[in-house]
Amino acid sequence: MQKIAVLGSTGSVGTQTLDVLRAHPDSFEVTLLAAGSNLECLISQIEEFSPNYVYLGDKGQQEALSERIKDRSVQLLHDQNELNQALASAEVDTVVAAISGFAGLSSVWASMVAGKKIALANKESLVTAGTLIMDYVKKNNVTLKPVDSEHSAIFQCIEHSQREVEKIILTASGGAFRDLPREEFPNISVEQALNHPNWDMGRKITIDSASLANKGLEMIEASHLFSLDYESIEVLVHRQSIIHSMVQFIDGSVLAQMGLPDMKLPIQYALSSPYSMKSDFERMDLAKIGTLTFEEPRYEDFPALKLAYQTDKDRGCGGLCYNAGNEVGVDLFLREKISFEQIPLYIEKAMDRFMHQEIESIEHIFELDQEIRSSLYDWHERKLS
Ligand code: NDP
Repeated sequence: MQKIAVLGSTGSVGTQTLDVLRAHPDSFEVTLLAAGSNLECLISQIEEFSPNYVYLGDKGQQEALSERIKDRSVQLLHDQNELNQALASAEVDTVVAAISGFAGLSSVWASMVAGKKIALANKESLVTAGTLIMDYVKKNNVTLKPVDSEHSAIFQCIEHSQREVEKIILTASGGAFRDLPREEFPNISVEQALNHPNWDMGRKITIDSASLANKGLEMIEASHLFSLDYESIEVLVHRQSIIHSMVQFIDGSVLAQMGLPDMKLPIQYALSSPYSMKSDFERMDLAKIGTLTFEEPRYEDFPALKLAYQTDKDRGCGGLCYNAGNEVGVDLFLREKISFEQIPLYIEKAMDRFMHQEIESIEHIFELDQEIRSSLYDWHERKLS
């Protein structure tokens, strides 16, 4: 019986994680649930799973939560510190890290330092602090399993293998605008950008998929997870999202991992690896799918992907700039303050201004992230005035 903490339990990955856990009550027990602001969803999860601990990031709703759960034996965690302490407790074996964005880093770091097993969906923590995290993971034998379907695919292709990797091929659906001519980008609405052709995901990652920043984040994430240079990571548009990624070995042989586009598969594998657990997930019917297609990404039309390859990985600050710039750009776009095609300008600006900085510690990452964001919001305001 694994005791599981689900961070971001009310989100797309979080609710699918609970679907997986619900199907295996003899293997998993939910002991901690953490969410941002969706009070009603969190309460129904508390009622179903009876965790030991619960956290709601939105302080304005904590009193209401406290009132609604007062007859239950569940401890309410009030801030990130209390959450991090609970993650380190004996009530948690495995942490599913599915908070979106940089907000997920603190709890990933705390779980890692406490030696917990981590099923990592929050790619932003590896993008921003990958060098420090992977150093710690390797030195201290922490178990960190990827949830992102592409990284799960690569992991499944190379797990327990002695073969030398030449390159990995990250597949991309191409996002909502893979066929939209560049001239039409200025008219893209938030609603259109939130309409993903293959996957049903949270708002931020859906916008990232449309701009290909998600593939940029995944490229940086993969470089840390699998200790590869950027030159050894290729991105290939594969519209059907059936091949989740591929690995090419030094003899030219290529392994691919396939499956229907359903996040429950990589979530479950991150929890059960190196074994597979029986599931009733829909099975793939290749004859019905018929054709699998592949094409080059439109690098010139989607500059966010190109910018990821220009980040400085070794000193560690490039990913932080890339992520902060993207989060600010996406936030402004979702609030209809800028157009879709302006999002990468914020990434570029962050890289121009801050990429020379060297990362010294995890605390430095939190400080620098704040500094980059403030500077970008200032820049945005000045542009308007
Ligand atoms: P969602 O937006 O659907 O969910 C995000 C979750 O994080 C919600 O539960 C939200 O709470 C919670 N949250 C946000 N901010 C905080 C905070 N400060 N403190 C506590 N909880 C917080 O995102 P996704 O599930 O789509 O994505 C989550 C992560 O997984 C991202 O890093 C994404 O890149 C990655 N990922 C997602 C995939 C997918 O298919 N969705 C695929 C691969 C990776 P609330 O809703 O209550 O506000």
